Amino acid sequence: MSENCELMEKCGFFLNFKGNSEAIKEGWISMFCKDQTKSEKCQRKIIRKKTGKPPADNMTPTGKLLEIRKQ
Ligand code: SF4
Repeated sequence: MSENCELMEKCGFFLNFKGNSEAIKEGWISMFCKDQTKSEKCQRKIIRKKTGKPPADNMTPTGKLLEIRKQ
């Protein structure tokens, strides 16, 4: 079994959107976060490494921004 992305515990997308219906439908968590090799292609991780800062929490591993709906 592949290892998880090492940023999982401090990743704003993972922590806040792992239960989001679109995130579940698109399979981002299983595709990227739970696969260390694939996670190297995660746009969040790439940006974080490049800039030293995490991107907005609602940016997904493919770079698409999730809409945050107001209640
Ligand atoms: S969204 Fe990207 S950086 Fe965050 S835990 Fe998943 S693979 Fe890692």
